[in-house]
Amino acid sequence: MKDVIVYAEHRRGETRKVTFELASEAGKIAAALGGKAHAVVLGPGSAQLAEQLKNYPLDTIFLNEDADIEAFLLDPIVDYLEAAARIAGPSLVLIPNTLSGRDVAGRLMVRLDAGMVADVVEVKPDLGAVVCVSPKLGGALITQCALRTADYGVVTVRPNAFAVQTAGAGVHVEQLAKPASRSYPAAIDRDVEEGAGELALEEAPVVVAGGRGLGGPEPFETLLKPLARALGGAVGASRAAADAGWVPYNLQIGQTGKTVTPTLYIAVGISGAIQHKVGMRASGTIVAINKDAASPIGEFSDLLVVGDAFRIVPELTKLIETAKGNLS
Ligand SMILES: Cc1cc2nc3c(=O)[nH]c(=O)nc-3n(C[C@H](O)[C@H](O)[C@H](O)COP(=O)(O)OP(=O)(O)OC[C@H]3O[C@@H](n4cnc5c(N)ncnc54)[C@H](O)[C@@H]3O)c2cc1C
Repeated sequence: MKDVIVYAEHRRGETRKVTFELASEAGKIAAALGGKAHAVVLGPGSAQLAEQLKNYPLDTIFLNEDADIEAFLLDPIVDYLEAAARIAGPSLVLIPNTLSGRDVAGRLMVRLDAGMVADVVEVKPDLGAVVCVSPKLGGALITQCALRTADYGVVTVRPNAFAVQTAGAGVHVEQLAKPASRSYPAAIDRDVEEGAGELALEEAPVVVAGGRGLGGPEPFETLLKPLARALGGAVGASRAAADAGWVPYNLQIGQTGKTVTPTLYIAVGISGAIQHKVGMRASGTIVAINKDAASPIGEFSDLLVVGDAFRIVPELTKLIETAKGNLS
């Protein structure tokens, strides 16, 4: 492997911070491997995103605004990524560890007959190999897997793993030819957008999550959102809250939901079941607000505040707003 290819996942030109994190790191990894760094931007809105990516340490941006990217599920993306990888030659492909990113990575791995490591937080080129650091079992175990293949490697990278660093100089934008037409079985019938405009949960520096203890959907709006807003964070939830229909499933954190790694995680009215824990235990500081002093979440929280969330959260939000006012 010499070159590094970043898959720039986006929606009509709007992307997430992880894309820029990958674009920043790709240049460094490619330099260590003695190769070049590329990004692949596909579908409507690609030109807009490519403009932004020019500010990052990349050599080439491969681009095609093909409408098929939005018309069919993942298959055209895999075709284009394979084509870019064949042009670049033996390379390491970095893909965001998002729901669709993981799907794309698995398929690309098969196409390229590549080695693959998922949910990676650090990539270390090391004497002809690429060592990938990846937490497993909800962060209880940290693994290091070396891709020793001379050909292709595919890695999905967790958001917030790399720092964003702009340094564009002479990025070359190249039209990526449409791969020979295939028939795609899974067409997209309807595209439903949830929670548009809000901070993506996986990338938020602070997550305020609510559980069954909140008793209904309203406290997510009236208690948690103001606290999250005061802290510059996002709202999440336990599965109990999502199953009850109080919040959409895209807010669920845990084994069957999202994995989050914010600097600060505040669990409100959540008991701390193992299936919830595995999705948030790698957070920096964990604070739990729970009326039960013996709640299991106390066992892995840095701070357990025992009391009624309906009294504590508004007070806390007020204190934070006041402190911010004093600082400004
Ligand atoms: C296969 C499988 C996968 C699963 N995947 C997930 C997953 O991805 N994510 C997930 O979260 N769960 C998951 N679960 C469910 C998990 O086992 C728990 O049932 C769930 O996490 C419980 O949610 P909770 O903590 O909100 O509710 P509860 O366990 O009912 O806890 C509610 C808490 O609120 C506290 N409370 C009540 N009133 C107040 C108040 N006024 N103020 C403060 N505290 C209060 C209570 O003391 C209690 O601790 C999964 C389960 C299975 C079997």
